[in-house]
Amino acid sequence: MIKRIAVLAMHTSPLEQPGTGDAGGMNVYVAQTSRHLAANGVEVEVFTRANAPDLPPAVEMVPGVTVRHVPAGPPELDKNDLPTRIAEFASGVVAAGQGSFDAVHSHYWLAGQAGVRAKRAWRTPLVHTAHTLAKVKNAALAEGERPEPKARVVGEEELAAAADRLVVNTEIEAAQVRGLYRARPEQVLTIPPGVDLDCFTPGDRAAARAELGLPLDAVVPAFVGRIQPLKAPDVLLRATAELLARTPSLRERMVTLVVGGPSGTGLDQPELLQRLAVELGIADVVRFLAPRSGAALAQVYRAADVIAVPSHSESFGLVALEAQACGTPVAATAVGGLPVAVADGVSGLLLPDHRTERWADALAGIALDPARRAAMSAAAVRHAARFSWERTTEGLLAAYADAARTEVGACPCSS
Ligand code: UDP
Repeated sequence: MIKRIAVLAMHTSPLEQPGTGDAGGMNVYVAQTSRHLAANGVEVEVFTRANAPDLPPAVEMVPGVTVRHVPAGPPELDKNDLPTRIAEFASGVVAAGQGSFDAVHSHYWLAGQAGVRAKRAWRTPLVHTAHTLAKVKNAALAEGERPEPKARVVGEEELAAAADRLVVNTEIEAAQVRGLYRARPEQVLTIPPGVDLDCFTPGDRAAARAELGLPLDAVVPAFVGRIQPLKAPDVLLRATAELLARTPSLRERMVTLVVGGPSGTGLDQPELLQRLAVELGIADVVRFLAPRSGAALAQVYRAADVIAVPSHSESFGLVALEAQACGTPVAATAVGGLPVAVADGVSGLLLPDHRTERWADALAGIALDPARRAAMSAAAVRHAARFSWERTTEGLLAAYADAARTEVGACPCSS
């Protein structure tokens, strides 16, 4: 019986607003699964690096979930400098974790390194979720994007050997950790992530558009997420320009939304994107919106005709699930988990590359064809309903119990 879990998320906290900076799908994953674990009677302690001055040592996120801020280096630290603080963070976690845990669940390779230390110190099984893999990311970099450093590749290789269970989102990722990282089959568990089906529901499109100041007859493709080269929001802008070149009369009623904030190596991306909109002659059509959560984000999905997810790589793509749960079809590149998140030709369209004409065809094929959009919208709601955080959490509970029964990780430091 699992009673108490330590969750390690070094570089970003579940208390942060996702969609900007380092906060994205992983924050949502950690927050949602922690909440659902608590709802199942499991006590959860989340350990994250104190990344702002004056943070209290502990915050109750919801009853049963405590977020502990562990000091490790100056609060404001570039993500590239975080590896130098792993040892400090790990020591802080080990010191702050009082009492015994049934398992440690680390998220992303940085926290994974601390997870290995905690496994040894607490004599507790380690479950690790990578969220993204450096070797996969480096094989599909956006133009000009810096490759992930060697330290991360090595860190992930060590984790693949040391962790008792590696939780992955899809069978594709399972094959990647086995093939690229030599994980053993008994270590790897595929547990799809979820979507908040209470928040992301189909709703009144007219009301959503009114709230966002969008006319009811507008044609609205949208991008939602962290604005960084990997996510390729420029693809949506180029496709918008192409659609307007094909049908100039669309200009009067086209509004392309970009929702999210700057992130990672692409801190200048929002400005570059704004400049691109000017260069493409579509600055009057593109509207940039600040990141938002919950009900406000659901209204964006409902207001849009189609959500574009043109990522170069994506371990899953929660945005795609959330949009579909709101009844909005998705056009996505067929990378990573997106072929699982989107049912091609049914709840949206998968595209093999970033060719502008192809994206323009896909967006038009959904947004400008009301009958097809309506059919895809209904299918999208059904497709998204197959995923839920309750189901993800059930899978995690089984993974923790499994890891507690048989520790298969070859922790290099456990002797
Ligand atoms: N998100 C948000 N507000 C925004 C933009 C994004 O809360 O304005 C959330 C979104 O709901 C999703 C997450 O950020 O849950 C992004 O996850 P995804 O898997 O799509 O991408 P990641 O950030 O993990 O690369």
